[in-house]
Amino acid sequence: MPELPEVEGVVRELAPASSGRTIVEVEVSSVIKQSKELGKEAIVKGKTLDDFITELPAMTIKNVTRRSKYIYFHLEKEGQSHLLVSHLGMTGAWFVVDSPDEVKEKRFRDHIHVVMKMQDGGFLIYSDIRRFGELRLLNKEDDYTPLLKMAPEPFEQAAIEHFIEMAKLPKYARKPIKEVIMDGQIISGCGNIYATEALFRMNIHPARAAERISEERKRALFQEIVMVLQESIDAGGSSISDYRNINGEAGTMQTRLQMYGKKHCKTCGRDTKSMKIAGRTSVYCPKCQR
Ligand SMILES: [Zn+2]
Repeated sequence: MPELPEVEGVVRELAPASSGRTIVEVEVSSVIKQSKELGKEAIVKGKTLDDFITELPAMTIKNVTRRSKYIYFHLEKEGQSHLLVSHLGMTGAWFVVDSPDEVKEKRFRDHIHVVMKMQDGGFLIYSDIRRFGELRLLNKEDDYTPLLKMAPEPFEQAAIEHFIEMAKLPKYARKPIKEVIMDGQIISGCGNIYATEALFRMNIHPARAAERISEERKRALFQEIVMVLQESIDAGGSSISDYRNINGEAGTMQTRLQMYGKKHCKTCGRDTKSMKIAGRTSVYCPKCQR
């Protein structure tokens, strides 16, 4: 699943490749159409397909930014601002190409779900193998309240105090620390891979209750999370799953991971253990992490 560093990597390439370009035509896959007919909402959420397809044309992409694990396409049409919000789900990928055939890998090419034709003849394409991704066309961020509940960006000054205060609340204090740091309302964009790594580096057991970790250690843990995220951004993200940047390339952070998906602890050599926390597999070292 693409996490914050992978989404950041996508945005850093999408922004220069698509800004200033105007959409002239939008097509969606038969899979999306059938899903809408069945009353479901595969990928295109919160709008009828007719509205989605007719509203986007003539919109110009002003900029592309990241907020937590969401991609924000800032759009403008006739002086009005709009926002296309994209979540990559498990396997979502964007491609900026001159023709849809240029999506090189077959499994991505076979699962193209949204094709936006640009005024200059190029294409902006959304592919999603498992279809857990989301596209939401809004006027502004406030139109979809879950976006307003997200914790501050981890690189912003306010984020650490937000984490410390939230972790003290009775509803979180007794929960496993890993569940707390992976909650997007407490820390933005810390998914399973980076939570696992940061806890290992801090020698903290993932199931330890948040309230049983001193504030000083919590602050150090937060800094560690920020460092792991930054390291991964610098490495172009992890390509554990089906993450690709817009050129179909994968990152190299997976070679630097020390605990996620590991059978043995890099520090003491013991077999790692794993447990489910908040429905996610959590790997840890029973000796080094307490
Ligand atoms: Zn160990």
